[in-house]
Amino acid sequence: MRDFDLLVIGSGPGGQKAAIAAAKLGRRVAVVDRPDMVGGVSIHTGTIPSKTLREAVLYLTGLTQRDLYGQSYRLKEDITVADLTARTSHVVSREVDVIRNQLSRNHVSLFAGTGRFVDDHTVALREVTGHDRMLSADNIVIATGTRPARPATVEFDERTILDSDNVLNLEQVPRSMVIVGAGVIGMEYASMFAALGSKITVVEQRPGMLDFCDVEVIESLKYHLRDLAVTFRFGETVAAVEKHPKGTLTILESGKKIPADSVMYSAGRQGLTDELDLDKAGLSADRRGRITVDEHYRTEVPHIYAVGDVIGFPALAATSMEQGRTAAYHACGEPVNRMHDLQPIGIYTIPEISFIGKTEDQLTEDCVPFEVGISRYRELARGQIIGDSHGMLKLLVSPETRKLLGVHCFGTGATELIHIGQSVMGCGGTVDYLVDAVFNYPTLAESYKVAALDATNKIRQIDRLRD
Ligand SMILES: Cc1cc2nc3c(=O)[nH]c(=O)nc-3n(C[C@H](O)[C@H](O)[C@H](O)COP(=O)(O)OP(=O)(O)OC[C@H]3O[C@@H](n4cnc5c(N)ncnc54)[C@H](O)[C@@H]3O)c2cc1C
Repeated sequence: MRDFDLLVIGSGPGGQKAAIAAAKLGRRVAVVDRPDMVGGVSIHTGTIPSKTLREAVLYLTGLTQRDLYGQSYRLKEDITVADLTARTSHVVSREVDVIRNQLSRNHVSLFAGTGRFVDDHTVALREVTGHDRMLSADNIVIATGTRPARPATVEFDERTILDSDNVLNLEQVPRSMVIVGAGVIGMEYASMFAALGSKITVVEQRPGMLDFCDVEVIESLKYHLRDLAVTFRFGETVAAVEKHPKGTLTILESGKKIPADSVMYSAGRQGLTDELDLDKAGLSADRRGRITVDEHYRTEVPHIYAVGDVIGFPALAATSMEQGRTAAYHACGEPVNRMHDLQPIGIYTIPEISFIGKTEDQLTEDCVPFEVGISRYRELARGQIIGDSHGMLKLLVSPETRKLLGVHCFGTGATELIHIGQSVMGCGGTVDYLVDAVFNYPTLAESYKVAALDATNKIRQIDRLRD
């Protein structure tokens, strides 16, 4: 008999949920991870620290209160890195504790060390002592995640020239910063540092940013960030980054030179598979370190699964957890539904963005007719109370079926509010449900009713013309 029914490599969101799900089904489960990484990238350098940092920035800068108390309002004048990291360290240590506790409550064995395959049923765990310990299992889940991709030509010192994993190493809040890459992570950090008063330049080789989102929402985000002194250099490529005693110089291929206190690279991530000896298990990874899986998250070796960022898109904690649970159920022979196609996207820029379903551009490209219903926070009592005058919710509604085709939200609470739209869409509800529903007042959720009325009024107008 092998040591375990299920062995998980990596304790991030995907690995954790796989382990807990199998343990709840009564299986003998083990998780291996490095001793200082329990909880994964998500807890140590990704989702949790970045979202906690954002919360600390919003609180200390008083940015969201300035509509009410004036542009000079600040909770603290000189915000230090220590002010920011205090909150982050507190949350991270609590979260690690929660995970350890959950694993131990569910009798999941947690092994500290780095795992690599010896064969398709055995993992060698290299412990901190340098000693190798063999662990065998019927099923194995690879949930090793990713690390930031670093261009070989740039010398990262992790203090002034850094990637998103090193943000918390900054010795002080930089007066100026170049952010290379206008993806989700780059734009989240650009927002945070801009809110702290750093002069940010974003360099992106594509002609624009976040092009999978609603165009109007991204226009609003750019407007807000420019207002916070962010400069965008789209369609530009970094040729070199120089480090000098008084700061950094980023040289673009177009010849522009951008001086700044620091440079942060946020230009993609690489799957963490190079130390796994995948070939010993009959597996391989692509050039970006990612593993291919089928709809059950099985690799080409059917009792070895892979979940989370190591399998690529969408590379979110939210989806990784669900992939982990689904893979574990499948490995344990438990019936499981496929993950719902309707998945929300949350982007924690300042202001935040969230959406579900289609964008206007996608619908137009597919020749699907739609009507738009908009609610602006400034017209909601709750919007006035919290001082958010720019927020908005947009519903895309089919005039034929009256179903929601997409929901796009920008502003306070967007990532929470989107789940109302998700529920209506997921249950096949129509815009009429939102028109007839009573919402608590005053809330931001009321924006659904306002936007639904806007959309149905427009649909009615067209119908009347035809009567
Ligand atoms: C800055 C930033 C912000 C983010 N914000 C969000 C967000 O707001 N919302 C969201 O949903 N997602 C967010 N993400 C993405 C999210 O963090 C990832 O999708 C998620 O962490 C992936 O989970 P995972 O299960 O793949 O494992 P990971 O969290 O990547 O963890 C993998 C674990 O495997 C371990 N490991 C690797 N190799 C081995 C080995 N050989 N042996 C043992 N252990 C090993 C590592 O030590 C690590 O602990 C963010 C990411 C970053 C970088």
